[in-house]
Amino acid sequence: MKAAIAGGSMVFAVHLSISVMAGFTAVDEASVWLFSGIAAIITAASIYAYTAFYLWRKIKPVEELLDALIAKEFDSVSVPKHSGGDEVGVLLNKAGEASEAVEQEFARLFRLENYRKDFIGDISHELKTPIFAIQGFVETLLDGALEDEKVNRHFLRKTMKNVNRLTILTNDLMEIAKLETGELKSYIQPVYLSDMVHELQDMLAHRAAEERVELDFRISDEKIRVMSDRNQMRQVLVNLIENGIKYNKPGGKVTLSITDSKASPGKVQVKVKDTGIGISEDHLGRVTERFFRVDKSRSRDKGGTGLGLAIVKHILESHGSSLKVKSRLNEGSEFSFCLKKA
Ligand code: ADP
Repeated sequence: MKAAIAGGSMVFAVHLSISVMAGFTAVDEASVWLFSGIAAIITAASIYAYTAFYLWRKIKPVEELLDALIAKEFDSVSVPKHSGGDEVGVLLNKAGEASEAVEQEFARLFRLENYRKDFIGDISHELKTPIFAIQGFVETLLDGALEDEKVNRHFLRKTMKNVNRLTILTNDLMEIAKLETGELKSYIQPVYLSDMVHELQDMLAHRAAEERVELDFRISDEKIRVMSDRNQMRQVLVNLIENGIKYNKPGGKVTLSITDSKASPGKVQVKVKDTGIGISEDHLGRVTERFFRVDKSRSRDKGGTGLGLAIVKHILESHGSSLKVKSRLNEGSEFSFCLKKA
């Protein structure tokens, strides 16, 4: 715009000079008016042509960009960064920024939509198995097994087992949905890990005994305090220790150790190690994926939902930490992470 004004001023100056020169050299007054009139028309036409061309050249990319936005074709137009500080340049840069913001928003909505579709697909798939099982057992009972003392309790127990599975599944689903959408916030504060460890020992002893697995909990200092959300950290430890029990062998062991981290001063390392079935190299990278299970029937049989490690991963991320996994098939696995000391 500034350039247009400058151009206009130049042409106007030329026009003025012509008029003055004409004034000096003209024979009569009518000729002076004629010269001035012609010069004025030329000036006006030049300013109009220059401004129209200038604006067209600058506004064209904005128009192309808006057309691309309307057609949602973000890749087809690249907006050149305009370095000039004039109004059209600023407008062009703003249009470029707006286009980038809209493109990012579209990409985010697209990802969300895909996530929603995948999630619904996964949920319906997971719900189908226990629901069909319950349907089958209830039908069998109604068809006469209810009166048969030898089998009725057996079918009812199986029905109950599947109802329990549905309850665990819906709880885990609600948890993961809240974590993945960012609805569940972590209330991070100083927490004594020793309290939690003793609580877990009591809570998991029965389950470990059922599977004939020994629990060995070691904490290097009873006074260790970490920055964490108490409930979420309990959930992390329960999921990891329960996995250590579930995927173990009779006579095996699960060791929980809590020590000062040697590699990262000011941090505490939490490690859950088991002597269980282990995870092969090709499955290791996928265990924290939602609904990924190496052996579906073993997981289901042990009450697994395939969401435990995905929940662990999300909780640790919200604590600024990450889960490390080492494993050897048939030898055992080790899950570890670090937390900031309080
Ligand atoms: P699940 O509810 O099936 O246990 P998780 O998300 O906790 O789901 O674990 C995903 C999968 O990773 C499990 O199904 C199992 O195949 C494997 N896994 C997890 N922890 C262990 C472990 N300690 N030892 C061997 N395999 C494990």
